[in-house]
Amino acid sequence: MAARSALARARRIVVKIGTNTIVQPGESEGRPGPGRREPGAIDAEFLHRTAAELSDLSRTGKEFLLVTSGAVGLGARALGMDRRPRDIQVRQACAAIGQPILMEEYRKAFRVYGIVTAQLLVTRDAWDRREAYLNLRNTVESLLQLRVLPVFNENDSVSTSEIAFGDNDQLSAFVASKIDADLLILLSDVDSLYDSNPRTNPEARRISYVDELGPSILAAAGDRGTEFSTGGMRTKLAAVRIARDAGCRVVLARGRTPGILSSLLSGRPVGTLFDAPGRLRNRERWIKHTRPVGSILVDEGALEALRRNGSLLPRGVTGVEGSFRKGDVVLVNGIAKAIACLSSEELSMVRGLRSDRMEDVLGEGAGRVVARSEDVVFLDP
Ligand code: GLU
Repeated sequence: MAARSALARARRIVVKIGTNTIVQPGESEGRPGPGRREPGAIDAEFLHRTAAELSDLSRTGKEFLLVTSGAVGLGARALGMDRRPRDIQVRQACAAIGQPILMEEYRKAFRVYGIVTAQLLVTRDAWDRREAYLNLRNTVESLLQLRVLPVFNENDSVSTSEIAFGDNDQLSAFVASKIDADLLILLSDVDSLYDSNPRTNPEARRISYVDELGPSILAAAGDRGTEFSTGGMRTKLAAVRIARDAGCRVVLARGRTPGILSSLLSGRPVGTLFDAPGRLRNRERWIKHTRPVGSILVDEGALEALRRNGSLLPRGVTGVEGSFRKGDVVLVNGIAKAIACLSSEELSMVRGLRSDRMEDVLGEGAGRVVARSEDVVFLDP
């Protein structure tokens, strides 16, 4: 299949390693194999295998970036807890304890192959604020030029619910989108997407290729995780949506299968490949994936005009929620996002008026529209 063989040509690749892949499984989460004697501890064997593979693959001109989970789990373990803590502050403390343990293991494993690792801890606002994003992007480009391996995780210790990604599946998709990766590999403890849960249904069929995220795929996703992980299939599909908008293919595969990266990068039909048929422009992507600051409610006529690629005019605005500034991203009726040309205060003053009255109320230079057509993006249903 063309999409599979295209994987061999992928040049910039983000690999996300989930908690259940990097830590050794407990008795109930899979067969303990040789060398798997400490459930919840780092699986050094897996990490060394992965380092060897990435080192080989890098010689073929490919660039890799890693996104790793495991900080909270390792921190919890260091404190003698047997599961991921629920309390957010304890989780943040665990991340602060576990992150250096995690990075030390990466450093040791990759050093064997002469690869220097770098830690990048990010929060959601690093992508929403353009300046922060540009700084981060420059750092990443420098690291890649220096042939250093960037290793991302969320900065859990400072992330509150407002600025958190909350799961590394979406974080990895943001990384892939923002640094223009052509492939995102989600390494997990499941080997593929199935049409129903293979843990409970022996008849479950493996899905090898997905081009549309239709209802049957969403239904297949269900929701799964274990006590140390946060991601289920739903967060993986959310990640796929983000990556697809950037024209980045995604492969979901089982991380513990030896040789999995080389295997899928040579085009073999392992895991599930989510194709990325189109690509939104940078600006559209930014609007679509930036968290909205407030909301605008509009009537049916205005919504219809937006669907036909028109601008948003004050006449159709029926409500303004939250407090936003000119240039902020706002939600429109919960189904679209737009960059507001007016602040929430200004909009409240002109809502319902004809466009030519805007300057009378707000003064010269106020313009005639609430949002320009090119700054409106409809969200996926
Ligand atoms: N950032 C979290 C950690 O390192 C992981 C989040 C996730 O599992 O997706 O523990």
